[in-house]
Amino acid sequence: MIRVEGLRKSFGHSEILTGIDLQVAQGEVVCIIGPSGSGKSTFLRCLNLLEMPTDGDIRILENHIFSGGRKSRLHDKSLRRIRTQVGMVFQQFNLWPHKTVLQNIIEAPVKVHREDKRKAFANAEKLLAKVGLSDKGNAYPISLSGGQQQRVAIARALAMNPQVILFDEPTSALDPELVGEVLRVMKELASEGMTMIIVTHEMGFARDVADRIVFMDNGNVVEQGSPDELFKQPKSERLQQFLSKVL
Ligand code: ADP
Ligand code: MG
Repeated sequence: MIRVEGLRKSFGHSEILTGIDLQVAQGEVVCIIGPSGSGKSTFLRCLNLLEMPTDGDIRILENHIFSGGRKSRLHDKSLRRIRTQVGMVFQQFNLWPHKTVLQNIIEAPVKVHREDKRKAFANAEKLLAKVGLSDKGNAYPISLSGGQQQRVAIARALAMNPQVILFDEPTSALDPELVGEVLRVMKELASEGMTMIIVTHEMGFARDVADRIVFMDNGNVVEQGSPDELFKQPKSERLQQFLSKVL
């Protein structure tokens, strides 16, 4: 579903991503781990072109969305379409504070997909039930806990009916007692076959849910494999060092 080749990204003179190759299959759950500053967020942001890569190749769903140092010839319209197929959930939930939970969820389907408002509301109610927040549709984000806000953010991503969802440390901003409720929702999505790429520091979760773990350091993939391979038999010294600090 996603094929990345030789992806590079520089900010000024410093090269942050140094030629990443990665493939993700449909229905696969890939967890990206690695030290702070290793380029994990930049990599996710490049995947849906929130950040323009400096070089390399990105294909999503057979569409060449980026090629060799310039945005491919895709029209902006196709680019927008592809972006709507790649959902993103951030560490900071980024909900619109002046909109209710339901309004937050229907915003993009109505504005971008031109979905009928009544249909969008009906779908949003279903998604709220899915993330366990049926009673919060008319609440404003500020009245919700961080865990609830993040579940709304996941419902909002799902409302676009994405082919893949990218999560960037979705539980890092949460109080410890709120982490579990968000991870549970993500686990359920994974078990339903959603394709997911998740940057996380939750090693237990990664071990449980990931089909594959990717370890990044210094702007590249150092090692990847099944959770057992990576956690029990790390090959590279850098991964061994990293795991000795976080496990
Ligand atoms: P991670 O998510 O693994 O912690 P990031 O992708 O956020 O790493 O950052 C990798 C490196 O890129 C860091 O050194 C960071 O300072 C740098 N960086 C990220 N975004 C920018 C930017 N917009 N401008 C300049 N440097 C950036
Ligand atoms: Mg980051």
